Amino acid sequence: MRNLILILGDQLSLDNPALAGIDALQDRVLMIEAPGEATRVWNHRARIAIFLSAMRHFAGQLRGRGITVDYRDLDDRRGGDSLRGRLLATLKTERPQRLRVCEAGEYSAAADIAAACAEADVPLAVLPDSHFLCSRAEFAEWAKGRKELRMEFFYREMRRRHGALMRNGKPEGGRWNFDAENRAGFPKTGPGELPTPPSFPPDAITREVLALVERRFAEHPGALQHFAWPVTRDDALHALADFIRHRLPRFGQHQDAMWSDMPFGWHSLLSAALNLKLLDPREVIAAAEAAWREGAAPLESVEGFIRQILGWREFIRGVYWLDMPGLLEANHYRHERPLPRFYWTAETDMNCMRETIGQTLRYGYAHHIQRLMVTGNFALLAGINPRAVHEWYLAVYVDAVEWAELPNTTGMALFANGGRFTSKPYIASGAYISRMSNYCTGCRYDPKQKTGPRACPFTTLYWNFIDRHEAELAANPRTVLMARNVARLDAGARAAIREAAGNILDTIATA
Ligand SMILES: Cc1cc2nc3c(=O)[nH]c(=O)nc-3n(C[C@H](O)[C@H](O)[C@H](O)COP(=O)(O)OP(=O)(O)OC[C@H]3O[C@@H](n4cnc5c(N)ncnc54)[C@H](O)[C@@H]3O)c2cc1C
Ligand code: SF4
Repeated sequence: MRNLILILGDQLSLDNPALAGIDALQDRVLMIEAPGEATRVWNHRARIAIFLSAMRHFAGQLRGRGITVDYRDLDDRRGGDSLRGRLLATLKTERPQRLRVCEAGEYSAAADIAAACAEADVPLAVLPDSHFLCSRAEFAEWAKGRKELRMEFFYREMRRRHGALMRNGKPEGGRWNFDAENRAGFPKTGPGELPTPPSFPPDAITREVLALVERRFAEHPGALQHFAWPVTRDDALHALADFIRHRLPRFGQHQDAMWSDMPFGWHSLLSAALNLKLLDPREVIAAAEAAWREGAAPLESVEGFIRQILGWREFIRGVYWLDMPGLLEANHYRHERPLPRFYWTAETDMNCMRETIGQTLRYGYAHHIQRLMVTGNFALLAGINPRAVHEWYLAVYVDAVEWAELPNTTGMALFANGGRFTSKPYIASGAYISRMSNYCTGCRYDPKQKTGPRACPFTTLYWNFIDRHEAELAANPRTVLMARNVARLDAGARAAIREAAGNILDTIATA
């Protein structure tokens, strides 16, 4: 064999650079289902299923093109449970002239592949990942010499470089950012009629995977009965077209809003398809821009959406590769509390947490503000250990891949990297959740109360956080007002907040 081409579970594109120039007579593809990947963190069953189903569909697609695929499924135990062990076993028996692979999305997978090749003495060719619009080297060049990494400046450069929403070198509409028009909460009457996102009922391959996951990972969290995610490129293209037509027009306006029994709102639900590489970000950006140019969606929504893909997604990936492996250990506040059990069960009387975690366990999905300002915010305010929080986020979402998840969790939600790319910790009291959702209506807590029997845990822990970090917050112009507000409280009020916070933390530790 000339080339053995390794295709990882999140590299499912015919444009995978490792497939370029493949000769079906001399080259072969290797795909590995490693049970160790499914159990490394306590994975949601829908996350395991989406990977396995998309991989199996892709292997079928390659075979349909006359390519030989050596597919090591979960039950093929040669080499043990890990990716590294299974790859090593294959290299030792097949002895290809070379292993070709597109650069892995995850730091540890890249290290495992290199180690297996070194041990088997098989030359390794790693190809840059052309899926992303900004290569790792280009991002490192952009970041060089910058004291602070700010997404907004990176995004503007990406807009210019890729001519996205640009006219004569200037941003369309005369502004880079339309956030002022976006991100409103819903009126008191709620969101009104909700769009129904397309669903992709499991075909025979997916049904087999769902049964396998049900059997093999019975103890894992998360439901499978709602599984209807796109697992092929055709499904993903359909999901993209549906979003552009039916939800993009109102995407921006309600991007941050939350409402009971509204798991999806106007969001695109494309993150998993993008991260599996079933979709190319260029086609997603082009489709959104075309909708605006045809007058089918307003500029605010289209700009807000393109910023997520061309800005945040590329930026987050750049930061991941710049800051690994240290990012895994980041713990600016030295938080050490264990993750409360209700993150795995949704059994809590905090309505916002019950809703957000509940839908996460049902679908493997929550939108950005639910992740950042509900579960993430609570973890930061409660002083949960960043590693434990990272392992939860990596486990419970169908779109979870470490390069996307870790910087969002550690950097954005927890400020555990001390503000490397955020100018302040994203902390908020119950007042924010009350403004952006209806979760507080009917909750046994009151978002306005810091202490007392109905005090909202978010509000108590928010004030407690400011009390604990007053000096650091006072030194930052973006948070100096928070510090001034806590400084206005008298000693008795501050002591009451500390006591109430201590009680909450004791309760969640034993819940
Ligand atoms: C703590 C935390 C953990 C997260 N973990 C992941 C993860 O593992 N995988 C993941 O893809 N996203 C992650 N995100 C980012 C974001 O929440 C999801 O991409 C988004 O909610 C997916 O839903 P959607 O496709 O409907 O997105 P939309 O709201 O429709 O946004 C469009 C697309 O933009 C991209 N995007 C938006 N925000 C971000 C961001 N902050 N970082 C990277 N891409 C972004 C996604 O590809 C998304 O599909 C995380 C955010 C937080 C706060
Ligand atoms: S009152 Fe507090 S705990 Fe209850 S839903 Fe509102 S923010 Fe969440």
